[in-house]
Amino acid sequence: MFKIFSVKTGAQASFSDITPQVAAVVSASKIGEGICVVTVPHTTAGLTVNENADPSVQEDIITALDKLVPVRGPYRHSEGNSHAHVKSSLLGHSHILHVSGGSLKLGTWQGIFLCEFDGPRTREVHVSVIPA
Ligand code: ZN
Repeated sequence: MFKIFSVKTGAQASFSDITPQVAAVVSASKIGEGICVVTVPHTTAGLTVNENADPSVQEDIITALDKLVPVRGPYRHSEGNSHAHVKSSLLGHSHILHVSGGSLKLGTWQGIFLCEFDGPRTREVHVSVIPA
């Protein structure tokens, strides 16, 4: 099963919790045991799985990435969004998650986040659910 959904991001840098949308695809697949592959087909956004209880964690990750890869260069890429390309590569564009008992097997405090680094934009998320 393969599904695409869209996410409107609200800031230049922001995290969007997409756990409910991914869980809905898993549920609709009717697959009890297997894996779920989540990808974003973008070069200035990424994915991470991290704490979804305290929003400060998302802000801290964005702040830490900004220290590592400042918005202002010097960079060579003429579009002016090199920092976003680098952050996308650091986090990666995909995750593989376990499906068991018909649902995602995430830790208690884990959520799946679309990580925007060049927003606001409308982003796509691709989800495959594959039976074991
Ligand atoms: Zn660019």
